[in-house]
Amino acid sequence: MKKNRILVFFFSLILTGPIMADQTDSVMIRQIYHFELSEGRCYQDLEDLCLNIGQRLSGSKAADLAVEWAKEKMTSYGIDKVYLQEVWVPYWERGKEEKCRLVAPSKYKGRNLQVLALGNSVGTGEKGVQGKIIEIQDLRELESMGQALQNKILFINKKMDPTLVNTGQAYSNVDSIRYRGPAEAARYGATGVIVRSLSNGINPFPHTGSTGYVEGIPKIPAIAVSTADAEFLHDLLKEEKDVEIYFETFCQNHEDKLSYNVIGEIRGSLHPEEYIMVGGHLDSWDVGQGAHDDGTGCVQAIEALRILKSLGYQPKRTLRAVMFMNEENGLHGGKTYAEQARLKSEKHIAAIESDAGGFTPRGFGLDGTDEAFNRFSGWSTFFKPYLADRFTKGGSGADISPLRDQGVQLIGFRPDNQRYFLYHHTHEDTFDKVNQRELELGAAAMSSLIYFIDRHGW
Ligand SMILES: [Zn+2]
Repeated sequence: MKKNRILVFFFSLILTGPIMADQTDSVMIRQIYHFELSEGRCYQDLEDLCLNIGQRLSGSKAADLAVEWAKEKMTSYGIDKVYLQEVWVPYWERGKEEKCRLVAPSKYKGRNLQVLALGNSVGTGEKGVQGKIIEIQDLRELESMGQALQNKILFINKKMDPTLVNTGQAYSNVDSIRYRGPAEAARYGATGVIVRSLSNGINPFPHTGSTGYVEGIPKIPAIAVSTADAEFLHDLLKEEKDVEIYFETFCQNHEDKLSYNVIGEIRGSLHPEEYIMVGGHLDSWDVGQGAHDDGTGCVQAIEALRILKSLGYQPKRTLRAVMFMNEENGLHGGKTYAEQARLKSEKHIAAIESDAGGFTPRGFGLDGTDEAFNRFSGWSTFFKPYLADRFTKGGSGADISPLRDQGVQLIGFRPDNQRYFLYHHTHEDTFDKVNQRELELGAAAMSSLIYFIDRHGW
């Protein structure tokens, strides 16, 4: 620790001298990585969040505890100013465990299917829903269905494209089936919906996610089925015309509740009115422990600031870490944050989000102006020794996206996402799936990028 401080004091003297910027920068980035890989705290922080609080859906008691946890954590690291920002969030509860089983054909009668209710879905209650299932691969097929869906259960079996190397792209190409599927099916008279889980693996774990209803169209219950069981149903429907299922869910939508974004700041020395923000979302689904989604993003954002502070770095601009609430089933934290930034005329130079898993960093994506991108991509060479030099255009993060129309440069942390959709939104998203070094390398990459933006601007 002491040695680090002395080194940084020495380098801060260099910063003021006429030395080439690139030498100063590469020394600083080395310091950041060195500190994190020898004195990192984010893995222990994640363990604490996952094992002592665990899953923390908006509105739940655990989400309240997570808010307190984030506030205390940042305070304990000596972040200058830590405070809460009020956010009203939807409060949806899964209730009793859902059940789903085959009713016909007779040879499979009683066979269970692994399912999870979709977030925001209405429940069936004890009476359940029963009906023949009709399979489609794409919502566009609905247009030609006429009356065929009346009193049936729609099975939307759309796969993530396995040929796309960017699994995040494969995911966002198909996630509309989950959000729009139930409302679309209800338009055609369906009584329930079962969607293939959004995962690029064949696994027995159902993956939940948000659905949305449309005013004036009946709200029908919706569940996600594991990819393994989706394959089973698909094969069965090729042999048998009449496949019938039964499912019951006990979800409920309650009144909105008051919750919070948690914000920590290190005040800028030269332009305190300019902000560089880094964040993740504090809420998670109500299954697993919200480890990769998005406990990792939260602990990395806190760590990114802690590293700079520990190294004695004096930022020119105000650095802000934000733990957003309610990304998963409403995005109210991100929307409220942007609204408040506008009301207070806060000038955000950049917003960085880590919400793609805590895996090995590959680089960053920037959604912003060409001018900013030219500057940004020029920095990538400094990240080469750390294997995180893929600086690309586009792709930021859901929570920061409402800042777009304030002209903020939006940046997404890009880890290797090949394994992300095996755990995403499942019981499997637990602390043991996160690797300490991968997580720390990500925190160091984020901290380094903040340093570059602060020092050089756009
Ligand atoms: Zn997330």
